[in-house]
Amino acid sequence: MPVLPVKIYGDPCLKAKSTSVETITPEILTLLRDMGETLYERHGIGLAASQVGVNLRIFVMDTDWTDRDEGDETGPRNLRFFINPEITWESEEDGPYSEGCLSVPGIEADVYRPLSVRLRWMDEKGKMREEQLEELDARCAQHEFDHLNGILFVDRLPFAKRTLLAGKLRKLKGLA
Ligand SMILES: [Zn+2]
Repeated sequence: MPVLPVKIYGDPCLKAKSTSVETITPEILTLLRDMGETLYERHGIGLAASQVGVNLRIFVMDTDWTDRDEGDETGPRNLRFFINPEITWESEEDGPYSEGCLSVPGIEADVYRPLSVRLRWMDEKGKMREEQLEELDARCAQHEFDHLNGILFVDRLPFAKRTLLAGKLRKLKGLA
């Protein structure tokens, strides 16, 4: 199964708003599977289709298998597929968490987001699901959901922080 190349900051795919999936075709199922392989290969916990150059409203997530801080990748694999996700509720309480992104390598920064959200989506079998997500699941789902609207975590940083990172970001774009 192919591991897909991940688009890096500056690629227009990452800024585009993705479109909804109409039907789950064999091509979509292949894409989901390849995105999963890519996620594990790149040691990620979430990956949106736009990050592999496909502007469809799809992301995959597995927050169980790896402990980012410990570098421990022995957790159970629990890959989940999210098609046409919608955030139907978010908690008033928010908080910071140090986020990174496979498309913005070498940069991590605290992003404030609601601590829990309710998400509605279609799974890979075409079944509608709705669930309240907490902690890292809520965090990761919001980060991936942003990708579907062309928003990167660095876009959510305060101006002063983004200014500090401007040099690194220019380098990623190949402009420095
Ligand atoms: Zn990301």
